[in-house]
Amino acid sequence: MTPNSQKIRFFRERIPSFECKPGCHDCCGPVTTSTEEMARLPVKSEEEHAAALAELSCPHLGEKGCQVYAERPLICRLFGTTPRLACPHGKRPDAMIDARIEQQIHRYFAEVRHVLV
Ligand code: SF4
Ligand code: SF4
Repeated sequence: MTPNSQKIRFFRERIPSFECKPGCHDCCGPVTTSTEEMARLPVKSEEEHAAALAELSCPHLGEKGCQVYAERPLICRLFGTTPRLACPHGKRPDAMIDARIEQQIHRYFAEVRHVLV
């Protein structure tokens, strides 16, 4: 396991989960992720990327929501767990993410190369 994949696992385990509004995907859109996380996602064609971007959507968003849920990027997991990325529908975990972990995640975002999902 690479140091980055260890970090990703560490962060994933520490981002609190919560229940969303059923069927909602309002926070999905064009997101960026580390190349390591990107490598875990199915490859989409240039056309699929362009079509999603034209709608300010994500190429992995399907009729029934996120199609890569188990491997969705950290930024998708973070949404709703911090006041900085608050859910517009007021959904949230009982306890928001620990501020130190959030800082570490942002440091990681700044350190590693990111690409558009
Ligand atoms: S976090 Fe909020 S906006 Fe995002 S999918 Fe869940 S309910 Fe919808
Ligand atoms: S990867 Fe999944 S959760 Fe993240 S923006 Fe795309 S569809 Fe939404």
